Amino acid sequence: MKAAVLYEANEPLRVEELEQQSPQTGEVRVRMEAAGVCASDHHVMHGSALLPTPVVLGHEGAGVVEEIGPGVTAVAPGDRCILSFVSNCGHCRMCRSGSPQLCDTNAQTGTLQFDGTSRLRNGEGTEVFQMAKLGVFSESIVCPEQACLSVPDNVPMEVAALIGCCVTTGVGSVINQPGIEAGARMAVFGCGGVGLNVIQGARLLNASQVIAVDIIEHKLRFAEQFGASDTVDATASDPIEAIRELSGGGVDFAFDAFGSAETLSQAVDSLGKNGTAVMVGLAPVGDRTAIDMVDLVRNQKRIVGSYYGSGSPHQTFAKMVDFYTRGKIDVEALITRRHPLEEINEAFERLAAGEDGRGVIVFS
Ligand SMILES: [Zn+2]
Ligand SMILES: [Zn+2]
Repeated sequence: MKAAVLYEANEPLRVEELEQQSPQTGEVRVRMEAAGVCASDHHVMHGSALLPTPVVLGHEGAGVVEEIGPGVTAVAPGDRCILSFVSNCGHCRMCRSGSPQLCDTNAQTGTLQFDGTSRLRNGEGTEVFQMAKLGVFSESIVCPEQACLSVPDNVPMEVAALIGCCVTTGVGSVINQPGIEAGARMAVFGCGGVGLNVIQGARLLNASQVIAVDIIEHKLRFAEQFGASDTVDATASDPIEAIRELSGGGVDFAFDAFGSAETLSQAVDSLGKNGTAVMVGLAPVGDRTAIDMVDLVRNQKRIVGSYYGSGSPHQTFAKMVDFYTRGKIDVEALITRRHPLEEINEAFERLAAGEDGRGVIVFS
C-alpha cells in the first residue's frame, strides 16, 4: 500500500509503497477514506515539531475497519470510524483520572504501537514510524482499537476526518472549558482549521461577542461565516488595543488557536479582569513567552492549555457527531479543497499559503 513518508525535515514527502504487517493483539487495520491537512503535520515537515524518521504523517482521518487483530472488541470489520490521534491505554494515571487525552502510555510509545514495535517497513526494509500511531496519509493503517470510534452512515467520511482533529480541538476547547457563561465576550487568534472551530464553539455557547484576529483579510471574512461578530486584521491595527476597544475593556476568554509566543502574550494582554487565556495551537517546540506578572495578579487572569478539546477524545467526538447531525456546527463548509494522496505536497503548499478552510486528502 502507498503512503506519504517524511524522510527529513524541509524535504517534500515521498509517496511510496510500504510493507504493512497485519494487526496484532488489540489492533485493527483501517482502509483510509479521508485525511485532513493540518498545521501540526506541517510543523513536523519543517522541523518545528520533532518526530523520529522515516515517518508517515497525518493524524486527522477517517476510514473503514477491514481487519481486526486478536482480542479486538470495540469495532468490527465494516465499521466506519473517526480516528483519534491519542489512543488511550486505559490504565495509566491520566486514563484512570479521567484525562485519556493525556495518556502517559500513549506519549511514551509515541510513533510506535502500544507493544513498542512498528507495523511498517519501506522497500529497503527500514522501519517506518506512524505519527500518533496513525499516519493517515496512507491508503491503509494499522492502529490500536482504542483509536477508533464508529460513526453512523449519515456522517460523511470527510466530516468524520475533520472531527478527528480540528473540530474536536477547536469546539472542544470552548465547550469543555469550565466557567464560560452565555453572553461571554471572546477573542480568537488565528482563523485556520482550529480557530474556525473555536469560533463555532463560541457560537454554540451563546457568546455575546466573538472577535476573530488574523493577519490575512480573506480569512477574517471566512471566519464571519462561522460566527465571528467582529474581526481584527493584526497587520492593520494593534490587536490588543482593538480587542480592548471592541469589548469595552477586554474579553472574558481569549483563545490562541495559532500557537506562538507573540499570539499567546497578545491573548493575555487582551483579557479583562478575571479573564482566561486558552492556549490551543501548538507553538514551535521550546518556545517561551513573556507575561506581565503584575497584570496577571492584580487582574486575576488565568492561562490554561487545552489539548484535544480538553476532554476524552471519544466523548468529545460523540458530541461533535451529535452537533453535526443536528445542524449545530458546520463541518462541510470548512472543506475547501480535495486532493488525491499523490498531491500531498501541493496540499501543504496551499495550507502554508494561507488559503481559507481545510484541505482534505481523499482516497479512491
Ligand atoms: Zn491536527
Ligand atoms: Zn493511559
